[in-house]
Amino acid sequence: MAFDYDLFVIGGGSGGVRAARVAAQDGAKVALAEEDRYGGTCVIRGCVPKKLMVFASEYAGVVEDAKSYGWAIEPGQFDWDVFRGRLNDELDRLENVYRNLLKNSGVETFDQRAHLEDAHTVVLADGTKKTAKHILLATGGRPVKPGVPGDELGITSNDIFHLDELPESILIVGGGYIASEFAGILNGLGVDVTQYYRGAQILRGFDDEARGLVSEEMCQRGVNLHLGTDIIDLQQEGDKIRVRATNGKEALFDKVMFATGRAPNTEGLGLAEVGVELGRKGEVVVDDYSQTAVPSIYAIGDVTDRVNLTPVAIREGMAFVETVFKGNPTKPDHDLIPTAIFTQPEMGTVGLSEEDARDQEPIEVYATSFKPMQQSFAGRSERVLMKLVVSQKTRKVLGCHIVAPGAGEMIQLAGIAVKMGATKEDFDRTVAVHPTMSEELVTMKTPVRTG
Ligand code: FAD
Repeated sequence: MAFDYDLFVIGGGSGGVRAARVAAQDGAKVALAEEDRYGGTCVIRGCVPKKLMVFASEYAGVVEDAKSYGWAIEPGQFDWDVFRGRLNDELDRLENVYRNLLKNSGVETFDQRAHLEDAHTVVLADGTKKTAKHILLATGGRPVKPGVPGDELGITSNDIFHLDELPESILIVGGGYIASEFAGILNGLGVDVTQYYRGAQILRGFDDEARGLVSEEMCQRGVNLHLGTDIIDLQQEGDKIRVRATNGKEALFDKVMFATGRAPNTEGLGLAEVGVELGRKGEVVVDDYSQTAVPSIYAIGDVTDRVNLTPVAIREGMAFVETVFKGNPTKPDHDLIPTAIFTQPEMGTVGLSEEDARDQEPIEVYATSFKPMQQSFAGRSERVLMKLVVSQKTRKVLGCHIVAPGAGEMIQLAGIAVKMGATKEDFDRTVAVHPTMSEELVTMKTPVRTG
């Protein structure tokens, strides 16, 4: 049977664009449908605008510190309109880059929603039908609100970049990385930030000591963090939102932002009807090669809810192209993925937390927490953490956890060593770079804990 295309990709985000582009460059006839903006979550409402907001929010502190270094300067006012205008221009520019990448690789694009009719047929919103030998689902995910009464009054991370003005006060509900990052960002921009999280500590799943330090430092910097606290309901009261919480408190906020979870975009795609298996959260179930229960249909990125990060979606897309178009079956590698959490302070992590490693085998823990030179000179009391979790048996570094300014940059490089299977002695053999914070990673001599 002759198909219109070799590959039809649904979703023009991180994973979909990469897979479409690489397959087309390899000679495949490829089409892609995107219902919103090209670049997807990461470029339009995730990593990129968020990181630019992190940068924006750090300048107030930088100006303060500069005074301690002898600069005669005073912080001015942050102008949200100026920043938002420049942010929007940058996102427009990036969206164009993504469109051009597709165009220049020969991918045909449809600016429409798409759904499936059968194992080889895609239906566009205008009713046009297109057939393809392979279909790739790369539809990503979306934020979900918690379903409490009045939650329509709250916003999500999708809305935060479009606010007409910065609120004076905000309640952020959630304890994951998105909630905690925006708590730091808005706090840095001068918003009065309260964060409610129902669990015992933010950043669940990460190393306890590292997340404990992040949480402590966030509070030091002014985030009003309430752990073990959930919301009961929200009510409009004049310009404000009244929030009742499980800790018995009632408080008024200008805005409430929910960062209470994300769901895969699988609704209305016709997946179950064509035989694609869905999991408990609605995610597309795939095998190690990203193939669904329907052999011609594959899925990559957040819609599969494996490891929801941009570089992972991209790698899954590349592995899919290797497997299907280059005759080289390739499993995306989900082991030892380094990640950064752009909280303030920042956290970088790769491998096992101390707790997970201890469950697995006897370990040694090397850790040091200290006041870094640059901030300490400026009179700040904040501390950083450098930590290695080491296998007693193999001496391999099982986990590396850094809480420090620039931790994301550091963990990318430490991640190479850990991925290569470096031992504690390999770290020790490496000469320190002095004076830096990360030199502590190669100078820790005695374990702080064993067992
Ligand atoms: P997406 O990028 O979500 O793209 C999916 C696309 O499909 C969207 O453009 C959507 O409009 C489109 N689509 C959906 N349904 C249809 C349909 N039926 N028809 C046509 N088009 C459709 N990751 C990191 O690595 N580092 C970070 O710092 C980071 N920060 C983040 C911050 C926030 C606030 C958020 C929300 C996410 C962040 N992420 C980060 C996660 C990252 O953005 C995602 O993992 C990544 O974008 C997933 O890529 P994807 O291709 O799977 O999906």
